Amino acid sequence: MHRPVAIAVHGGAGNLARYKGTGRLEEAYAFLEQHITLWHTMLCDGVSALDVACESVRALEDIGYFHAGKGSSPNDNGYVELDASIMRGSDRAAGAIAAVRTPKNPIDVARYIMEQTQQVLMVASEADTLITREGFATVDASYFVPCDEVGAALPSTGTVGAVVLDRDGEIVAATSTGGTLRKRAGRVGDAPIIGAGTYAIGGLGAVSCTGVGEYFLRTSAASRILARVELLGEHISTATGTILTEIVHLGGDGGMIALDHRGTIAMPFSTSGMYRAAVDATSSVTVGCL
Ligand code: ASP
Repeated sequence: MHRPVAIAVHGGAGNLARYKGTGRLEEAYAFLEQHITLWHTMLCDGVSALDVACESVRALEDIGYFHAGKGSSPNDNGYVELDASIMRGSDRAAGAIAAVRTPKNPIDVARYIMEQTQQVLMVASEADTLITREGFATVDASYFVPCDEVGAALPSTGTVGAVVLDRDGEIVAATSTGGTLRKRAGRVGDAPIIGAGTYAIGGLGAVSCTGVGEYFLRTSAASRILARVELLGEHISTATGTILTEIVHLGGDGGMIALDHRGTIAMPFSTSGMYRAAVDATSSVTVGCL
């Protein structure tokens, strides 16, 4: 008997209300609505959680609507620095890159680090050297089209991510970002940090976070959500809500997508919006921006 499959993706939490009337929310909604069905079908057809997580994050990086991949904005030194991570639940394998400047699809490099190296996290220029040496597609500064040209004076965040449960019960979490907008050069947030922005435990669940990364780092957000599910037996909605409330009390903002091993999905956020889409184990589809 086939087990249930489920997927949730996000395109970042932030002050999305400022995009009302610009057409951007409708554009992103249409993209998410069309693609979530596609990715869910892949899972139903037996494609692995790892492949679907990478496929979906790659598409979110490439579309340029979100602050990751093509849509990333330069830091305060005028260049883009990218972070990404991926984790597989069954064996807690993980890979991540931080503060890299050249990969077209950072998530592919994170997967490579997980599968092909002994490391978990590679950073900055040595990681860029690895990216070139291993033949990953690279881009220069002219490739990036910052997604945040509307209302640029307003603080905002944005990241992309996926949590996926496949037919074999494998659970994967993946996250990719250009970081917070106009971030300090060299600053790294939660997205590439296993346990903060990304975490997955086989037979339990997966989490990908978005928001002001410093708060997700300080709360070890992703791993503590799953710890609550594991140790307290909390529902995934309760656990995500508890950690998000903790982040808000500390002065942070953001959101996360999470699923449990049964394919139940939670996607809470404290900002005016979070680009998100999901199909849960009952095949119920959710798409939203605000
Ligand atoms: N969490 C990301 C970071 O702090 C940004 C975001 O999600 O918007 O780098």
